[in-house]
Amino acid sequence: MQARDAVFLEDLCPKLRVRRWRQSIHTFTGNSCIYCGNPSESIDHVLPRSQGGLSLTENCVPACLACNGHKSDTEAFEWYRRQRFYDPRRAMAIRAWMDGDLNLALRLLQWAQPQQINSKEASQTNSNKNWKLQAA
Ligand SMILES: [Zn+2]
Repeated sequence: MQARDAVFLEDLCPKLRVRRWRQSIHTFTGNSCIYCGNPSESIDHVLPRSQGGLSLTENCVPACLACNGHKSDTEAFEWYRRQRFYDPRRAMAIRAWMDGDLNLALRLLQWAQPQQINSKEASQTNSNKNWKLQAA
């Protein structure tokens, strides 16, 4: 498929765009939870939606169901600091993610867990034009 066709198709199908956006977030960390490193099965809002958190890439991180459910509506850093698996490098990565510096976030995650990050996939994801799109 040509790149132009892809854009056209996504304009017609916003749901497809959201699905790709969600997938790109998981791909970025190699499908691992940003908090604990387990397989990511959900998207977590760092600042909970109930507190005005938006569904933007900067506020949405890949998380496993356990972390996402356990964290619930708690502020992410406050919750994360109390966890057994707390890793300051991951906390820095989340900060970088929220600042929109995804390359720095990825480097910090690689540092925390070198074997699970596929940097080639991640760099492709990062160049994806859909990266900044807002979820519905
Ligand atoms: Zn987790």
